[in-house]
Amino acid sequence: MFIALSILFFENLAKQRENASYLCRSITVITLPEAKTQKPRILIVEDEKEIADTLIYALSSEGFEPTWLSRSQPALKELAEKSYDFGIFDIGLPDGNGFELLKKLRASGSDIPVLFLTARNEEIDRIVGLEIGADDYVVKPFSPREVVARVKVILKRVATTSASISAPTEQTSEGIKPIFEHRPEQRTIFYQHIALDLTRAEYALLAYLMEQPGRVFSRRQLIEAIWSNNHPSDDRAIDTHIKTLRSKLKTQNPHQEFITTHRGFGYSLTV
Ligand code: CA
Repeated sequence: MFIALSILFFENLAKQRENASYLCRSITVITLPEAKTQKPRILIVEDEKEIADTLIYALSSEGFEPTWLSRSQPALKELAEKSYDFGIFDIGLPDGNGFELLKKLRASGSDIPVLFLTARNEEIDRIVGLEIGADDYVVKPFSPREVVARVKVILKRVATTSASISAPTEQTSEGIKPIFEHRPEQRTIFYQHIALDLTRAEYALLAYLMEQPGRVFSRRQLIEAIWSNNHPSDDRAIDTHIKTLRSKLKTQNPHQEFITTHRGFGYSLTV
């Protein structure tokens, strides 16, 4: 019943859009106000229609503008041609997989947040997804509300990390050598004047650790700092980011271990 209603709803929506685009084509001189562009645009790439439908419904009713594609190649083209604020990618797609899609998207220079939809118990998928720069994942079967909540948290974080994380090393004279420098306005962290090539999560993690060098943060504190306080507990996700962050820092300085593991507690940054 719900699905039938959803289909009806989206058929109507599609018709309305058709009408709207027809109108736009016939009055191209008049630029309609930016009402449309103010809604965050989300590209859903998912081959299961029912899953896509529930996401479209949940996202639309929360003020987002979702677009659905079922394959990765058309998705890449779409992402190259149009501006999106967010991507929700399934991992198993008929013409490739979500990982490849994300890699190609990042290689094209796009930095939009991406959330993966992963199959149940496929922990390896979750870890790989985060390693290659996804912002988060949800495990199927999921509640569409949860996805919407995650999308909101990530978009909020993206908006605030660029604006409000303070730069601790820039003016710090309290014994911290400025070997790391955080420039929030560029969303970039430098190690000895070299910009580090970090995923968004690695960046958020390092920026957070840099706020209080030497302080030990628990995995839960780090999860809350990167995602949100109701993120399902997953210490492995933090361990994965720490691992990739360490290896990137190692390439800058193989002789120093910047991140210390405190067994049973968590991690700290040593500078
Ligand atoms: Ca699939």
